[in-house]
Amino acid sequence: MESMFSNLSEADLAIKAEAEEYALNEIAPYVNDIDQGKKEIWDVIRPLGKKGLIGVTFPKRFGGRSGSFLQELLVSEAISYHSLPIDMSRLSSSYPALLIRMFGKTKILRKYMDPLLKGEKIGCFCFTEPDAGSDLSRMKTIYKKDDLNDEFILTGEKRFITNGSIADTLVVYGRNGAFIIESDWEGFEVIEEYQMMGLHGLHLGHMKFNNVRVPKENLLFYKEIKPTSDGTKRMGKTSAISSMQVMLAPERVAVSVQVMGVAKRAIDVAIQYSQERVQFKRPICEFEGISFKIAEMVTNFEAGKALLEKSVNHMEDGNLAAMAKLFVCTNAFKICDDAIQVLGGIGYTNKYPVERCARDVRLMRIGAGTDEVMKYIIQKGIYRKTESLEPLEKRKMF
Ligand SMILES: Cc1cc2nc3c(=O)[nH]c(=O)nc-3n(C[C@H](O)[C@H](O)[C@H](O)COP(=O)(O)OP(=O)(O)OC[C@H]3O[C@@H](n4cnc5c(N)ncnc54)[C@H](O)[C@@H]3O)c2cc1C
Repeated sequence: MESMFSNLSEADLAIKAEAEEYALNEIAPYVNDIDQGKKEIWDVIRPLGKKGLIGVTFPKRFGGRSGSFLQELLVSEAISYHSLPIDMSRLSSSYPALLIRMFGKTKILRKYMDPLLKGEKIGCFCFTEPDAGSDLSRMKTIYKKDDLNDEFILTGEKRFITNGSIADTLVVYGRNGAFIIESDWEGFEVIEEYQMMGLHGLHLGHMKFNNVRVPKENLLFYKEIKPTSDGTKRMGKTSAISSMQVMLAPERVAVSVQVMGVAKRAIDVAIQYSQERVQFKRPICEFEGISFKIAEMVTNFEAGKALLEKSVNHMEDGNLAAMAKLFVCTNAFKICDDAIQVLGGIGYTNKYPVERCARDVRLMRIGAGTDEVMKYIIQKGIYRKTESLEPLEKRKMF
């Protein structure tokens, strides 16, 4: 498969080829069964851990590949081409390991990271709450310190969490901290697993934490909330909330790569079908109505590819990541919708994957930050850059 990234090294090409072969032989045969609820998604993901394909960037001693972020993206691209929910579940499970590696105490590294990366345990990361979606400052989840027992007590709710209802290891963000939680601890409760428009097989959970006792070694961040002079307990921006920023640009780039994988699949199917399907004595690709649609789909795909590659090469630029996510995710949905149109009636059935691609990819205009939030970030960046400019009148530009 032609990659969306150029200038790949030999090591990059090797991991790409390995992931593609694995996805074709070990994932593709089960995708329809997973979509139809006949097979458990983790039965397909778990073996990826044994091959070091959950958490490619982690050191080999922890079960990773000591690979680069680009190599992680190549694996995502290969898997998402066949199934977005499988790759979402795989990647989300590795995020707690990422946070534990960055902020956790050495004592707990092996305990939690090894089983996550080997696929023996399932992970998830929890920001979103019923009252806190795009606006995470509305979070209610909170940790209380219990000095007597050297523990923290967690109360709150998290919803729309990928892997949430089946996870063993959770990183739960609260207003004043983030800790590693185990789902078999007393007080943890799964309230609901959502039924979704697409991404069937993905376990999207709503969970409650009823005074869950958390040992202090499981701390990733904590900041005590001190009453202010007027007696109220106002929250500052904690290091926990700030730490989310570390994850946002890479997550948005990763999401965009997954989405490009899905769009590529829809394009490949549409091109081939348009050459094979005959109506009015000609393959339908000979009608401009179809071939021009293909031209637009591929043009939008190539534009997304260029923007995404630029953002991968400038990971420090959160604005570029937001632009890539906005462009890629809105266009990918349009591409998949156009692919259905190219296929006509059969495109609307599950005989071909394009209807599934459209259902699955639709989420990505919402998850990891909505289109509107991306636009908000982009315009802020634009105006911040121009704040210090001299007034137009003085710049004699006209
Ligand atoms: C399948 C799936 C998987 C997910 N996985 C995870 C996960 O693993 N972990 C996790 O923590 N979360 C996860 N989420 C949650 C996801 O990140 C949120 O759904 C998303 O951030 C939007 O929040 P919300 O759904 O509460 O929508 P809201 O924030 O309520 O937004 C509703 C609408 O209002 C718009 N809006 C909000 N604020 C503004 C504004 N300032 N300007 C303009 N428009 C605005 C939004 O763009 C949107 O159109 C997942 C969600 C889904 C559906």
